[in-house]
Amino acid sequence: MTRADAQDLDARDPLAPLRDEFILEEGLIYLDGNSLGPLQKGVSERVAQAIAQEWGRDLISSWSKNGWFDLPRRIGEKIAPLVGAGPGQVVVADGTSINIFKVLAAALGMQPGRTRILSEPGNFPTDLYMVQGMTELLGSENCELVLAEEDGIAEAIDDTTALVILTQVNFRSGRVHDMAAITQAAHEKGALVCWDLCHSTGALPVDLDGCGADFAVGCGYKYLNGGPGAPAYIYVAERHQKSVIQPLSGWHGHAAPFDFDTEYRPADTVNRYLCGTQPVLSMLALEQSLEIWSRVDMADVRKKSVALCEMFIALVEARCADMGFALVSPRASDQRGSQVAFAHEAGYAIMQALIAARVVGDFRAPDVMRFGFTPLYTRYVDVWDAVDRLVTVLESKAYENADFQLRAAIT
Ligand SMILES: *Cc1c(COP(=O)(O)O)cnc(C)c1O
Repeated sequence: MTRADAQDLDARDPLAPLRDEFILEEGLIYLDGNSLGPLQKGVSERVAQAIAQEWGRDLISSWSKNGWFDLPRRIGEKIAPLVGAGPGQVVVADGTSINIFKVLAAALGMQPGRTRILSEPGNFPTDLYMVQGMTELLGSENCELVLAEEDGIAEAIDDTTALVILTQVNFRSGRVHDMAAITQAAHEKGALVCWDLCHSTGALPVDLDGCGADFAVGCGYKYLNGGPGAPAYIYVAERHQKSVIQPLSGWHGHAAPFDFDTEYRPADTVNRYLCGTQPVLSMLALEQSLEIWSRVDMADVRKKSVALCEMFIALVEARCADMGFALVSPRASDQRGSQVAFAHEAGYAIMQALIAARVVGDFRAPDVMRFGFTPLYTRYVDVWDAVDRLVTVLESKAYENADFQLRAAIT
C-alpha cells in the first residue's frame, strides 16, 4: 500500500464528493467525528435564517407556522431509517442520559416483580450512572444494577431481569454486540432491551424493528454531526408506547398539551416520551445536518468504514511494528464499529503530539488511543497521512515533550 494506492481508492469512492459538504480545514485529519461531528455547509445559514426570520419576525407564530412544535417527531422520522425503525417510533428530545432515565423508569414499570437492570462494566459510564441514580431514587429493592462481562450477557439474563441496557458499539474498543441474538435471548427470559446507539447510528446499518428491540437511545452530535450538545433521540417500539407513563411527564408528552388540563393524560403515541419545550435552534441545526443522510446508502457507508479501518490497522501494524501498540478493537471487521482503538503505554502523550501534528483522535483512560473513521468526509489518503504522521511522532520522539505529558481534564 502506497500513498498513490490510497489516492486511487479515493478516486473510485462513491462517497468522495460528500466531503466537500463539510467544513474541514486544509491539512487537518479529523478522526474524532465519533465524539463530535464537524459542521456542514448550510447549517450556519439555516440557523441564522431561523434566528432572523422565524424568531426575529414570525415570533410566537413559528410554533405552528414554521413547524417548531412538530420538530421532535419530524426529526425523529429522519433518524428512523438510519436505525431500522418504521414510522411513529422515534422522537428527538433532551439528551441521551435523560432519555435513558425515561427508559429505565418505563421498563421497570412494565415489569412488575422484576427489579434488575443488566449491563456490562465496560458500558459507557453514563448508562451505568443513570441506573445507579435510579437505585437511589427507588431503593435497591426496586432497582438493582447487575453487571456481566461482555461475552456473558445472554447467560446472565434471568427471571429477575427487567431490562438489559447495552451500548451496541463499545465506546472504547468499538466491539459490536449481536443485537438480534441478545434481544432474542432477553425476550425468551421475559426481559426488555434498550440499545444505546451513540456509536452506531450513522456508523453502521442498524435494524431495531427487525431485531424486535424494545427501546433505543442515541445522541445527535457524533456520527449525525448535529452540533455540540445536539438533541438526542429515543426509540420506543410501537407495541410498548401505551404501556406506562414515563415519569418525566411534562406537558409535551400530554395527549393534548394545549388543552391545559389539570390532569396529566399521556399521549397514546411515542410523544409520551417527550417532556417539555425543546431547544429549537439546536433542533434546526440537527435537522439540517441530517439532510445528507437522505442521499447516502448505509451499505456504502459501512463498506467504506470497514475499508478505512482495515487500512488503518494494517498500516499501523506494518509501519509501527515493535513500537508498543496493541490492537484493542476486534480484528474481525464484522465485530467492529467505525472506530479503531490501540493501547500504548504512552498513549496519552502520543495522542497529544499527534493532535499537534494535526491528526485529531482522542484518548480514553487508562491507555487507549481512539480513532474514528467517518466515511462521509474521511478519505483513504487521510488514513495514509495519519499513519505517516504517527510514525514521525514516534521516530522523532516528539511525544516525550513535557507539554504532552500533562493530562487535561477533557481527553
Ligand atoms: C456519547 C455517549 C453518551 C452521551 O450521553 P449524553 O447524555 O449526550 O452526554 C451516552 N452513551 C454513549 C454510549 C455514548 O457514547
